[in-house]
Amino acid sequence: MSKITVVVPCYNEEQSLHFFYEEMEQVAAEMKENTFEYLFVDDGSKDCTLECIKELKEKDEKVRYVSFSRNFGKEAAIYAGLYHASGDYVAIMDADLQDPPSLLPEMYRAVTEEGYDSAATRRVTRKGEPPIRSFFARRFYHIMNKISDVELMDGARDYRLMNRAYVNALLEMGEYNRFSKGLFGWVGFKIKWLEFENVERVAGETKWSFWKLFKYSLDGIVAFSSMPLYMASWLGASMCGVSLFAILFIIVRQLMFGNSVAGWPSMVCIIILIGGLQLLSIGILGLYLSKTYLEVKHRPIYIAREAYTEKCNAEPGKL
Ligand code: UDP
Ligand code: MG
Repeated sequence: MSKITVVVPCYNEEQSLHFFYEEMEQVAAEMKENTFEYLFVDDGSKDCTLECIKELKEKDEKVRYVSFSRNFGKEAAIYAGLYHASGDYVAIMDADLQDPPSLLPEMYRAVTEEGYDSAATRRVTRKGEPPIRSFFARRFYHIMNKISDVELMDGARDYRLMNRAYVNALLEMGEYNRFSKGLFGWVGFKIKWLEFENVERVAGETKWSFWKLFKYSLDGIVAFSSMPLYMASWLGASMCGVSLFAILFIIVRQLMFGNSVAGWPSMVCIIILIGGLQLLSIGILGLYLSKTYLEVKHRPIYIAREAYTEKCNAEPGKL
């Protein structure tokens, strides 16, 4: 009999937690051959999410939780969940039922009978999402797949079931700037993709504003590609080439036709253009540098305020 840990990152989810629990219970009842552990990670919620989780814990011994000292973000919550999970298999699932628990039996079959290490999900539609958001999301996946080594699946969710080896590989990557979608691909292994239609949130509202997503996509690019740096260098090099050519042209013209003062507006334009490109390149450089700076500080990925799991007495910062 194998144990499945369901990791649920929660940030202000008091409205959806009960729906989630009910639906998850139904699926757990279907999968009689397994035992379950529901590991809720309260990501510093400002509402009554933690109380809600504790209520569930009182009535159901499968419920475990980790509660953060502040909001550390979903990536940190996933890490904490994986770290504390005690199951042979671990699933990551959103609390808002946008990741249908009913897919779990099929995912379980994939990792136990079909020889896969992980069963991942992607949504094939983006129904109910603002069109502008879908457009930029698509562009992001397109660009990311062009400029980085890891393969990102368009519409991939964080919802997946993994075996121990896969989980351990993820935990070994203790980096501070965690872009899970990239990490999932980076570790490799055999992955089966299951598809489903987008489901709208059961209650509450999304925690991702457009700008938060934009920043997240930049984090992804910086974490998994050095292409912007190469591009800045190439741009710089080609601008040098062009300007050398222009200098030669001006010298030759001066020698042949004498002094010509005309043309200073174009000069100013060029100076501004080059100045802009330099700033842009420095900006890109700074982006990488700031990420490196955060990384070398070796700060913990999350800090827990309280926890009730099988692994509670761990090192500080990893409660
Ligand atoms: N979440 C989290 N920390 C955050 C933001 C979100 O743990 O800082 C959780 C949230 O509670 C939910 C999941 O991550 O379970 C996905 O969030 P959301 O539904 O807002 O994102 P969307 O589905 O709209 O992309
Ligand atoms: Mg959601």
